[in-house]
Amino acid sequence: MPRRLANERLVIASHNQGKIVEIAALLEPYRITAVGAAALGLPEPDETGATFEANAALKAHAASRAAGLPALADDSGLVVPALGGAPGVYSARWAGPERDFGAAMARVHRELADRDRVASFVSVLALAWPDGKEALFRGEVHGRLTWPPRGDKGFGYDPVFIPKGYDITFGEIDPAEKYRIDHRSRAFALLAAACFRDR
Ligand code: IMP
Repeated sequence: MPRRLANERLVIASHNQGKIVEIAALLEPYRITAVGAAALGLPEPDETGATFEANAALKAHAASRAAGLPALADDSGLVVPALGGAPGVYSARWAGPERDFGAAMARVHRELADRDRVASFVSVLALAWPDGKEALFRGEVHGRLTWPPRGDKGFGYDPVFIPKGYDITFGEIDPAEKYRIDHRSRAFALLAAACFRDR
């Protein structure tokens, strides 16, 4: 049974301000104060893990140890079984330093050729404590890839991903509707149920 958190400061082990604001809003109902890793001057560890779980855990442990506080990290990406799980933990890296997701989506499309277009987005949240204890939560949303990309409401690989039960892409869907069904909200719901006390 994971430890529970209440009325505490929690380090968000990310240097992405957008991510920190989003997570701070999710934590607000639980009276948990989110503190960004950059605000504490914490370094960004290299994501050397081979799995989402390993990368999320290494980021959470590094931040928790350095800050002496519990820390939350996430790792996410697109998983395409016909590509052996790629781009997977390399989802951001496939877009290169210019963050060119048009090129990354084109690479997925090219490498798939006429193979099965089933795909999932995966999000793993890791919560770590300074004494080394950790809890991991995995959320997934299943669907299929389409080509060409459609819609400009999302980010990353959203314009080529059609969630199961829909005929529009994550790039076309209303963002609030995306959040209701996506991998991140599923992982967060599991985390909240296991670790947060209601007010
Ligand atoms: P990281 O979790 O910040 O290491 O990056 C994961 C990468 O996976 C992002 O840069 C996106 O390319 C991709 N990704 C993760 N979640 C989503 C999503 O909801 N939509 C589109 N792309 C995503």
